[in-house]
Amino acid sequence: MMYDAIIVGGGPAGLSAALALGRARKHVLLLDGGPRRNMAALKVHNFVTRDGVAPDEFRRIGREQLAHYPKVEVRDAIVESISGVCGAFQVALAAGPVNARRILLCTGMVDEMLPIPGFAQLWGHAIYQCPYCHAWELQDRAWGYLVHPAHAHMLLTFALQARGWTSDLTVYTNNAFDLPAETSRVLEEAGIRLETAALTRVVGTGHQLESIELASGERVACVALFVHPPQHQTRLIQALGLALDDQGYVSFDPMKRETSVRGIYAAGDLTTRMQGAIHAAAAGAHAAAMLNAELTSEMILKRTV
Ligand SMILES: Cc1cc2nc3c(=O)[nH]c(=O)nc-3n(C[C@H](O)[C@H](O)[C@H](O)COP(=O)(O)OP(=O)(O)OC[C@H]3O[C@@H](n4cnc5c(N)ncnc54)[C@H](O)[C@@H]3O)c2cc1C
Repeated sequence: MMYDAIIVGGGPAGLSAALALGRARKHVLLLDGGPRRNMAALKVHNFVTRDGVAPDEFRRIGREQLAHYPKVEVRDAIVESISGVCGAFQVALAAGPVNARRILLCTGMVDEMLPIPGFAQLWGHAIYQCPYCHAWELQDRAWGYLVHPAHAHMLLTFALQARGWTSDLTVYTNNAFDLPAETSRVLEEAGIRLETAALTRVVGTGHQLESIELASGERVACVALFVHPPQHQTRLIQALGLALDDQGYVSFDPMKRETSVRGIYAAGDLTTRMQGAIHAAAAGAHAAAMLNAELTSEMILKRTV
């Protein structure tokens, strides 16, 4: 059996791509190995028609809608490797290999937990990356913004934006980099506190954050901490040797969404820092349409359809 396309990853990008390809009458296999990136989150926000739905429910609805399309198959399986060339890819699974003419990668990214005691336990519960996903519920409360040195250049952009949700905002640099005097001046003018000392831990009870503890032992009240931790690609993507951009995201042709390897397309978090379920879903639909256009012309001209 040769599938028209195998989609790796069953998050918003993969589900959306499978829907588009199913509606285009293609034989599609969607493989998802779990866990999902927003594993710790209780709700998905900022997705019109699905605002506030539980992430598992989001995926359940996605799979339910795919079940209407007889040529779409969904399997819970981890892709171990991908080999072959455009038109004849082999995808290795524990249950045995499967074959496809095209591959669409929707594997998301892996967030790296910062080595601050308490960080991993509170990630997704009180420590977040995206204010559009979580800020509304926490507006006007005590917030922190912990700036990773790799993102020092966007400190002001993010801090001033966050100030729109709360007037109680502290920026933490964790003694990791120096701030230009002009940046400190703008923060002060915007009513944003600056704390340059090292963080020793985040203090909370259960999934509730209460304060940020500094090297001096001082604790600063905080119920929500925003941070953009480093991310890396999954092992599968690393092993494929695709071209990556300077931030480590998979490079792709902006129109076709094809990667540096012919016949392998990519959509969702693995391609961009602009991460969110609705962005990933839109990218999945885009990639599916491009993949379908290219594959269908080939099949029509070779008379294989
Ligand atoms: C804590 C947290 C909360 C968030 N809250 C929100 C929110 O409220 N609203 C919002 O819009 N966004 C939210 N996001 C961001 C959102 O989760 C992502 O932008 C979105 O899930 C990206 O979709 P994706 O399809 O690209 O990847 P993912 O959703 O990460 O899906 C990728 C899938 O691929 C699978 N996979 C990976 N490798 C393999 C393999 N080798 N074989 C098979 N399967 C594989 C993974 O298991 C996973 O299921 C949140 C993120 C985090 C971390």
